Amino acid sequence: MKNVVLLGSTGSIGTSTLKVAGDLPDHLRLVGLAAGNNAPLLLEQTQRFAPEAIAIQDPAKAAELARALGTHPRVYAGPEGLLQLATLPAADIVLIAIVGTAGLAPALAAIRAGKDLAVASKEILVMAGEIVMAEARTHGVRVLPVDSEHSAIFQCLDGKPPDSVRRIWLTASGGPFRTLPPDQFAGITVERALQHPSWSMGPKITIDSATLFNKGLEMIEARWLFDLEMDRVGVVVHPQSVVHSMVEFVDGSLLAQLSTPDMCLPIQYALTYPERMASDRVQTDFPKIGTLTFEAPDPQRFPALTLARQAGETAGTMPAVFNAANEVAVEAFCQHRLGFSGITETVARVMAAHRVLPHPRLDQILEADAWARATAAA
Ligand code: NDP
Repeated sequence: MKNVVLLGSTGSIGTSTLKVAGDLPDHLRLVGLAAGNNAPLLLEQTQRFAPEAIAIQDPAKAAELARALGTHPRVYAGPEGLLQLATLPAADIVLIAIVGTAGLAPALAAIRAGKDLAVASKEILVMAGEIVMAEARTHGVRVLPVDSEHSAIFQCLDGKPPDSVRRIWLTASGGPFRTLPPDQFAGITVERALQHPSWSMGPKITIDSATLFNKGLEMIEARWLFDLEMDRVGVVVHPQSVVHSMVEFVDGSLLAQLSTPDMCLPIQYALTYPERMASDRVQTDFPKIGTLTFEAPDPQRFPALTLARQAGETAGTMPAVFNAANEVAVEAFCQHRLGFSGITETVARVMAAHRVLPHPRLDQILEADAWARATAAA
């Protein structure tokens, strides 16, 4: 039995995680749940899974939940609440599925408290991959990927060292605009960008999948998770999203992990690792899939990949700046204050203006993050 704390329980990854926990009641016990704003859903989840403690951002909502729930469970609020949950004595593993940067401090707190970490929030490793991986080594805890691409690579690597790898291949669906003529990109609306062809996800990551910033963030995440230089992290467009990613070994052999797209699979693998538990949830029907295709990403349509490579190669504070500028630009796009192409233009402008600090401390990363947000909004 593993005791799990889930930060971001009301989101897309969070609700899939609850399905997995519901499938494996003898193996996974939810001891902590945290949400941002959705108090009614958090209440419902608490009543169903009976965790030891819960947290919600707004103290007023926390007080309401405490009144509704009585003496059990403990109810925490705000960023401090996330830290309480991440360090809960009963927890074995903490799954971070909070969109944005709010997951970074709880991730570090969990590692320092000796908990294994399951990472969905790619911002954590993009911003502070060097620090997070070093802390995990120091405290002897695992950092397990939840993202389907990184889970695929983790499964294919199966403990092989970085020097046995020629390169890894992250697959990208190419999003809804893979074949759209480049001169039509400026006219893309929020509504169209929110329709992903193969995955159903939260709004931020869906927009990032349309620009391919999501793949860019994943390239940097992979660089830290698997300890590979950026030039050994490749991207190939695979519209069917059945091959979740591949490892090319030094002898030229390639291993891939495949399934119909369903986030429950990588979530379950991360939470039950190193075991592989039986589940009927994911079924793959090859005759129905028919064809698997691969193509090179088009740098003209998707400049995000070039910017990501540049950010990852520069390293230091640049990946945090890349991430923060993108977050601000995506928000402006969703609020109809910025056009689709403006997202890339904003990130490129902010990166060009940034003075990089190599091997930054956490406070310097957070400073660079704040600077990038202000510069992107200006
Ligand atoms: P959603 O927008 O669906 O969910 C975000 C979750 O974070 C919600 O539970 C939200 O709470 C919670 N939240 C936001 N801010 C806070 C905060 N300050 N404190 C506590 N909780 C907070 O996002 P996704 O589930 O799609 O994505 C989550 C992360 O996982 C992202 O980093 C994304 O990149 C990554 N990811 C997602 C995948 C997917 O398939 N969706 C795949 C791989 C990675 P509330 O709703 O109550 O406000």
